Amino acid sequence: QPNIYHKEQGMGRLAGKKALVTGAGQGIGEAIALAFGKEGASVFVSDLNGEKAAEVAQRIVSEGGDAQPVVLDVTSEAAWNEFSATFEGALNILVHNAGIEWVVPIEDIELSDWRRVMAVNVEGVFLGCQKMLDALKQGGADNEAGASVVVISSIAGQIGYPDQAAYNTSKAAVKHLSRTMAIEFAAKGYNIRVNSIHPGAIDTPMLREAMEGWAEHKIFGTTDMDVVRREVAALHPINKIGRPRDIAYGVVYLASDESRFVTGTELTIDGGWTAR
Ligand code: NAD
Repeated sequence: QPNIYHKEQGMGRLAGKKALVTGAGQGIGEAIALAFGKEGASVFVSDLNGEKAAEVAQRIVSEGGDAQPVVLDVTSEAAWNEFSATFEGALNILVHNAGIEWVVPIEDIELSDWRRVMAVNVEGVFLGCQKMLDALKQGGADNEAGASVVVISSIAGQIGYPDQAAYNTSKAAVKHLSRTMAIEFAAKGYNIRVNSIHPGAIDTPMLREAMEGWAEHKIFGTTDMDVVRREVAALHPINKIGRPRDIAYGVVYLASDESRFVTGTELTIDGGWTAR
């Protein structure tokens, strides 16, 4: 199969920028960090899982980029305080990618699980933006195109979907938080753009786990994983499941100066799922 991502070398679209990506140890966050490295950013590869963050950072460095791993639990105010206290200079790009999925029907959701989903998917975004705001302001002051915050939401934040009420609610909440921050930062003249990205189904460990949940709850009328995978692909008019890089290139655009006039918007990357 031809490699449509023919650019083994990037084009310097993020040259000179300092970026922090959360949940970058695997899946979509890993692809974002790798794409950032190729495009010339200095990447802080952060994750709850330090080993995975170190592996991704190492790969960026071995491909000629600049990266360092960071162990960061996005739900921990203390961890954000510690990271921001030691962070030096301007932050140009902050990608809120860390997230957890929860496939449980409403009647069975435990309050503690509901709160955990909100803590990672919503509070993590709020905390990260608040604690890194001074560094982002400096990033905005350094550059006419502004600093860029990108929030990885989901199409689950735009449309309803059964058996994942906590997840869907969290993803709608961060969409609105993104818009609100975009307006508030613009009104205050901070020169920080904020946008959300809404992926369809992307082939990552999270999706594979979610599909197991959909099979278990017979969302597609069957427990057969091959059928579930085909059904999930068919939810997208272009009849395929996305790859992490499909999202990463959207993030590169929103993080780069090419998107200097883009703030407070939703970029949907979903193979047409929500278009019909
Ligand atoms: P994944 O589960 O494969 O990877 C998530 C990463 O986040 C892991 O490395 C994990 O260690 C890390 N993480 C989890 N909790 C954390 C915490 N408290 N602090 C720091 N890191 C933490 O997930 P993915 O599929 O790559 O998803 C990434 C983002 O994209 C999530 O926000 C998810 O909701 C969103 N998304 C995914 C899909 C999809 O189909 N995969 C679709 C729409 C949106």
